[in-house]
Amino acid sequence: MKTYNIDSNGFYGEFGGQFIPREMAKCVDELSAAYLGIINSKEFQDEFHYLLHNYVGRPSPLYLAKNLSRKYGCKIYLKREDLNHTGAHKINNAIGQILIARKMGKRRVIAETGAGQHGVAVATVCALMGMECEIFMGATDIARQQINVKKMKMLGATIRAVTEGNQTLAEACDAAIREWTLHPEETYYLIGSAVGPRPYPDMVARLQSVISAEIKQQLLQHEQRPHPDKIVACVGGGSNAAGSIYHYLDTPHTEIILAEAAGKGIHSGQTAASLSVGHNGVLHGFRTLTLQDEQGNPREAYSISAGLDYPGIGPMLANLYAQGRAKVVPITDNEAIEGGFELTSSEGIIPAIESAHAIAALKHLEFKKGEVVVVTISGRGDKDMETYLQYMQ
Ligand SMILES: *Cc1c(COP(=O)(O)O)cnc(C)c1O
Repeated sequence: MKTYNIDSNGFYGEFGGQFIPREMAKCVDELSAAYLGIINSKEFQDEFHYLLHNYVGRPSPLYLAKNLSRKYGCKIYLKREDLNHTGAHKINNAIGQILIARKMGKRRVIAETGAGQHGVAVATVCALMGMECEIFMGATDIARQQINVKKMKMLGATIRAVTEGNQTLAEACDAAIREWTLHPEETYYLIGSAVGPRPYPDMVARLQSVISAEIKQQLLQHEQRPHPDKIVACVGGGSNAAGSIYHYLDTPHTEIILAEAAGKGIHSGQTAASLSVGHNGVLHGFRTLTLQDEQGNPREAYSISAGLDYPGIGPMLANLYAQGRAKVVPITDNEAIEGGFELTSSEGIIPAIESAHAIAALKHLEFKKGEVVVVTISGRGDKDMETYLQYMQ
């Protein structure tokens, strides 16, 4: 049977795999050998779902947005990941991986963060589990993300300022990897999206797949069938999208729509649209579609939303796009802001600017009357108020 899931070598079609130095391979292989057994154990499943229910507040509602539905002439359901503890889907993955780390006997967790959202999720679960936590963050990002830096400190994390290069996410990744290879025994590296070398993309997608498992059950209740006609999610690295579509990958009836960040436009040079304009390349230990300049050198990503400005894309989604299984809609900064205001005024929900990209994609789609559409609202807009306010008269 044709499947869009991962193969036994860690590839989704031609994307994914493991392209890393030997010292790091030792760390990653230990995780590869352990993660499936742990995730599939009853002990893990029981504790994971206990925490998702009682700590995160799952299941997150699947809300029929009546006003939006009327406007677009179909039935639009919102999957409310914005209502999770800490305000986004990232906590699902952080909880899953901290349980895996503990089971593997690790006592210390490291992570990289750009805007600080992933760092806060990791610091949160480390506080919960009483684990030591070190967050690598570029000095530039530390200066512009003070609230998240303070939250991480309050949660007990140590912030390690990275002062190489541009002093942002890419350098923070390099520093975290270096730290991991120096202290492989006791350290667990907690990656925040469905990216990185095998087994991270598959592990993160499985942990986030709780989103589509819930959508199936909730749609059965609301619509007497488990699958929507369309599912729409925004993509940075691709974890909320991977989780939202996981149980529909091999359901051809369900059309998959990925809203990626066009920034100032996909041909403007200031973009994060790695699906629309990316080239096959290796980034952060895996093969995917990456932003490159004319000479084929890696290019930095730009987006108004800090969670989407990643110069690559998770390998599952790169393959879905290459195979024609997923449709991609690039959304500019301005369209995203409009999408944020549209959801706010029509439903009283202020979304994260990342999630506003998914709302903005609706304008680019055609709907049959009565069609069932699910849009994942990956996070809440509290963190983005300063940006939204710049657009208010
Ligand atoms: C981090 C983040 C994203 C992007 O990450 P994915 O791995 O692509 O899901 C999207 N939305 C919110 C609210 C985020 O915090």
